[in-house]
Amino acid sequence: MARIIDGKAFATRVRALVADQVAQMKKETGIVPGLAVILVGENPASAVYVRNKGRQTVETGMNSFEYILPADTTADELLAVIARLNGDPAVHGILVQLPLPGHLDADLVINTIDPAKDVDGFHVSNVGLLGTGQKAMLPCTPLGCLMLLRDHLGDLSGLNAVVVGRSNIVGKPMAQLLLGDDCTVTIAHSRTRNLADICRDADILVAAVGRPGMIPGDWIKPGATVIDVGINRIKSDGRAKLVGDVDFADAVRVAGAITPVPGGVGPMTIACLLANTLSACCRANGLAEPEGS
Ligand code: NDP
Repeated sequence: MARIIDGKAFATRVRALVADQVAQMKKETGIVPGLAVILVGENPASAVYVRNKGRQTVETGMNSFEYILPADTTADELLAVIARLNGDPAVHGILVQLPLPGHLDADLVINTIDPAKDVDGFHVSNVGLLGTGQKAMLPCTPLGCLMLLRDHLGDLSGLNAVVVGRSNIVGKPMAQLLLGDDCTVTIAHSRTRNLADICRDADILVAAVGRPGMIPGDWIKPGATVIDVGINRIKSDGRAKLVGDVDFADAVRVAGAITPVPGGVGPMTIACLLANTLSACCRANGLAEPEGS
């Protein structure tokens, strides 16, 4: 049976570390890191994420600024809010909750954020820095996955990693991070041929697709480490339930280690967001960054 990688416990430790560092910064300098989150529209899942982010930001001792804007907010209005936050010295991180309503150009909006405050790591400058192996603000979900992998496996050098999914927010940056840790990386997607065989070759298998249980146990190499990024809402026995992209009950018998859904990658995303905000605050104020940032 696979070891269950407890992302919830790991994220709790990361948040506690961030809270200690925030308290120390406050005591020594009087500076308090600030995170601004912008939500446009009424997507219920996004509203829950934004609430959780705000609550955990405050719990770690940082300032949380929430901007809940109506669904018909124009691009000019949204860009004006971002411009104001870019210039606000009390704000060290800015996050625009995705997806945006269809009339807003997400690339334009994200690229309006000051890259130094882009704590989601989605600005094209940060994407370019990551892609060229330079120090960048790293996207939170892939960073969380990497932290879990390093914690479980130690040195990742030379391992075969397969990332299923090539989105800009998960799959591609995940692959870049694994490459940065000297894995041999394959990125698979909806047009990939022989996906099962490719997955069976993976020492590290990262699933970021958005299809409930699409990866069965017999696609997994015995002993492999499986990171399930998928968050899918399904109905089971008439009850709503969250499941990943991996068939957990099947995979747990084959893998060496696996993240559950919920309680695996999900909690790491917000923990990394808070760590990124602290790092951005340190850089903005010429302070030494916390170790490992
Ligand atoms: P996207 O929909 O943007 O990307 C999905 C990717 O999966 C695409 O690259 C797509 O390929 C690929 N894909 C779709 N069907 C198949 C298939 N049959 N075989 C192989 N590849 C396939 O999703 P995201 O990357 O945004 O999210 C992926 C999952 O991760 C979702 O469940 C999401 O909820 C979850 N998520 C979890 C987070 C967390 O905090 N834990 C944060 C962000 C996302 P193609 O490009 O060819 O279309």
